[in-house]
Amino acid sequence: MNTALIREQFPILHQEINGHPLVYLDNAATSQKPLAVIEAIKHYYEFDNSNVHRGVHTLGSRATDAYEGAREKVARFLNAKRREIIFTRGTTTALNLVASSYGRANCKEGDEIVITQMEHHSNLIPWQQVAKATGATLKYIPLQEDGSVDLADVEKTVTENTKIVAIAHVSNVLGVVNPVKEIAAIAHRKGAVIVVDGAQSTPHMKVDVQDIDADFYAFSGHKMCAPTGIGALYGKKALLENMEPIEFGGEMIDDVGLYESTWKELPWKFEGGTPIIAGAVGLGAAIDFLESIGLDAIAQHESRLSNYALKRLREVDGLKIYGPAERHVGLVTFNLDDVHPHDVATVLDSKGVAIRAGHHCCQPLMRWLKASATARASFYLYNTEEDIDALVSALIQTKEYFGDAT
Ligand code: PMP
Repeated sequence: MNTALIREQFPILHQEINGHPLVYLDNAATSQKPLAVIEAIKHYYEFDNSNVHRGVHTLGSRATDAYEGAREKVARFLNAKRREIIFTRGTTTALNLVASSYGRANCKEGDEIVITQMEHHSNLIPWQQVAKATGATLKYIPLQEDGSVDLADVEKTVTENTKIVAIAHVSNVLGVVNPVKEIAAIAHRKGAVIVVDGAQSTPHMKVDVQDIDADFYAFSGHKMCAPTGIGALYGKKALLENMEPIEFGGEMIDDVGLYESTWKELPWKFEGGTPIIAGAVGLGAAIDFLESIGLDAIAQHESRLSNYALKRLREVDGLKIYGPAERHVGLVTFNLDDVHPHDVATVLDSKGVAIRAGHHCCQPLMRWLKASATARASFYLYNTEEDIDALVSALIQTKEYFGDAT
């Protein structure tokens, strides 16, 4: 993988911030966009823009082909079938769709929904709401000391009463990869479905929903080179077919009467209203771009970077790293002495280094880590060892800056 050539594809990276070359290490929040994606969206608006599925004119069919073509690419990307891919605004909307439709219809008092304390709020609050609305119990798989999940604990927590197991494939704070395939097998053996939050996995590794045997899999385009506002939910056809839509209106109907209506077939019954057409086109272009480089090559590059980052960050006196000692997919979360992570991020920004600071939408995990907030540096295919060197030297300067205060 030629990182220099890849960087040329990302115009935003070639600028100075506060007099320093930009070092963008906030990829877990959102990734930057390559020219191929920017051009695809521009081309769509310059030549093909129209509404989908109803126009009989040429632009209408071009827009429909572009939108449905993007669905085909997402299906191939996840090893799913076209009808099992529902376009959504992102992971949050996808998980809320499963919770509001499948969750509310399939849980009742005495049933259990099993999640973990490392979940992003998007894969936690929707299940709290389902539990409240249905009387089901929300249960947590305990975490190991390093934040990972032990399969023996999954066996104990998931019971015959469990209806849903919902878990992140990769944690956005700890960077751990959860053994979702093995967890899916346990869930299925006990009669539950598994919902996987793929927000932090699809950008960084090859995902095969059939190999995992996921019942539902959610992801966001904007973390994998596509624009904001587009993502998808994969669901097994047999499950989706028996689920009710949660948004009603145009585009999703078959026949509308005064008192009763019927819905389109999959996947359109879940896509009420004019969809995010240009976003889907951008997502399709992002998938082409990532596949042209190769997800395995990207994963290897990031694994090398993460290892290098862990090694270099351990050289910074007073730096506490969270998560397992080794496996960190694409990110490292840390705190520097007693300096508030917002202050760390502010000083780093003055050196051109962009990182994230805060609770990362994981307040229950922050409590478990006994930290009110943390700093997080997250990497992508365009990051280099020089970026990590810049991070480390900015952190050393931050430490000097706060001096006695720490
Ligand atoms: N889950 C995880 C693990 C995430 O990292 C994120 C984004 N930070 C989300 C869910 C929510 O994604 P979005 O905001 O794109 O819906």
